[in-house]
Amino acid sequence: MADRPNSLQASAIVLGSRTVPVPELATHLAAIAPRGLTVKRSADIDEDTTTLAVAAIRRLMARTGLPAAGIGQLFLVGADGEDADTTIATALGRPDVPVSRFLSTPEAAVDALLVAFGSEPAGPTVLVAVSDGRDGDPVSAGAAAVALLIGPGSGIRLIREAHRRVARTEDLGTAMSEVVAGLGTEVEHVVVAERLPGDARAFRDASPNGAVTTAPIDRSGDLGVATPLVALLAGLRTVEEGERFDWLVPSLHTVIGARFEAKSTESCEDLDAALHGAASATDPGTALRVRDAWRSHGDQVAQGAFVSLQQYLHEAPARYRLEGQRCTSCGRILFPPREGCPDCPDARLVVEPLSGRGTVYARTTIARGGAPTEFAPQQEAVGTYPVAVVELEEGPRVAAQLTGSGAARLEIGSPVLAVFRLLYVQAGVARYGFKFTGAMD
Ligand SMILES: [Zn+2]
Repeated sequence: MADRPNSLQASAIVLGSRTVPVPELATHLAAIAPRGLTVKRSADIDEDTTTLAVAAIRRLMARTGLPAAGIGQLFLVGADGEDADTTIATALGRPDVPVSRFLSTPEAAVDALLVAFGSEPAGPTVLVAVSDGRDGDPVSAGAAAVALLIGPGSGIRLIREAHRRVARTEDLGTAMSEVVAGLGTEVEHVVVAERLPGDARAFRDASPNGAVTTAPIDRSGDLGVATPLVALLAGLRTVEEGERFDWLVPSLHTVIGARFEAKSTESCEDLDAALHGAASATDPGTALRVRDAWRSHGDQVAQGAFVSLQQYLHEAPARYRLEGQRCTSCGRILFPPREGCPDCPDARLVVEPLSGRGTVYARTTIARGGAPTEFAPQQEAVGTYPVAVVELEEGPRVAAQLTGSGAARLEIGSPVLAVFRLLYVQAGVARYGFKFTGAMD
């Protein structure tokens, strides 16, 4: 097998901002709740695979101190939308970063990971696997993005891998046991990437190995292409430094397995903390309206906030990243970007990235019927929504929506943080920009 120069250095996970009780949702849809699935995390009205991917990568960068300039290449699994790669690269401040897109299947997520362990770009690989649950089974599909940093140095090393095709009538548990046998002498820990609780049962029955861990999807739902990587992170919780574990990804036609050695596990994300993070409890009816809002209204004609696609793309760095300007004469910070400083018309302006931190200066609630038509689908799905003028710590005041589980409780003076979200869908094209969340979200 080819030499693998890289190891897994760090991880970050971001889940959809809403929680939906699965048994209630199943009752609402007159469907059968998958056994063992109690709650799922679903995407909010302003979250999709693009925004979840950006959130996970930004979290990974914040946790590791990796600057955007340090990313060697970006692997995207499950990010749908024609321009998702351009949008994500722009939102990270690296429009030039080489991006490889993979198919939206769990097998492709595994392929991307294995390729990343062997590739040698100019800097580390950032791999993100994301599912917003919108194309999955409405009862079980959840929303999450997992971002991994893979590069040279000690971390989680890939030792070997094994594949096996599964015949239609074959016992999946037996196939999984054979893959584990193909990985070499038995190790103490096996982690199975189950899509629904109970998938690993066949393996437990067939395998003499008792130490089986599964992805904790009973509290998140079936995370689609993100599930194999969530299982990998769950496996890391079970091992000590220096120990090895096997990772099994079963699917309809294949079982893929890999053996890892944990040289160092210190920088990997705490899965339990991510699963229990802030979220809005959502009733089944609202959850389904949120899920389908943009799909059913996406081609609506814009009125109030119409911005041409050309102008939107021109302003993308400012809209995605809160990129302002600094006057080289008086030092004043300007946002949004403009032609010149109001105080020094002849002075040069330079790009100034803003922190995104600020406080609520004024706020209001947009009532039913009070919104521009672009936001009508949002209003139909969730009712009223809060809008604020935020005073950024660098000085400028900007108007934007408030979002996240604590949005309703934000008052004048509350500290807030800019986040990258879906604003609306115009002529079938998603438009992105910044909103603000409370510091606790
Ligand atoms: Zn000036």
